[in-house]
Amino acid sequence: MADLKKIYEADGPGDAHVLRGLLEVEGIDAVIRGDDMVPLQGGSLSFVEMRTSVWVLDDDGGKYARAVEIADDYAARSQAPAQAESGAVWRCRSCGETVEEQFTACWSCGADRGRQP
Ligand SMILES: [Zn+2]
Repeated sequence: MADLKKIYEADGPGDAHVLRGLLEVEGIDAVIRGDDMVPLQGGSLSFVEMRTSVWVLDDDGGKYARAVEIADDYAARSQAPAQAESGAVWRCRSCGETVEEQFTACWSCGADRGRQP
């Protein structure tokens, strides 16, 4: 009998759904549970925090191992978003302005980023 195993503890429902989408691309069915009880550190034991987590079936078919790999990759990437955001800029070749990563054209002169080197 296959058992459900937790592969990832999410920051929230949105985070969990992104990972489930990645798993589905690989043909792995994932279950999202929002009722994972985690005892709060340093507080009363009667207090628990509700965490969203992602679970998959440990089916001995290699999918569980693959799911763990995907979850590890996803966790590694999601742990460094601040660094990526702060350094993600490109310089406009037309006017020299520094433009943030999310813009596809220069905010100053309108030059398309696609034409930048
Ligand atoms: Zn420009």
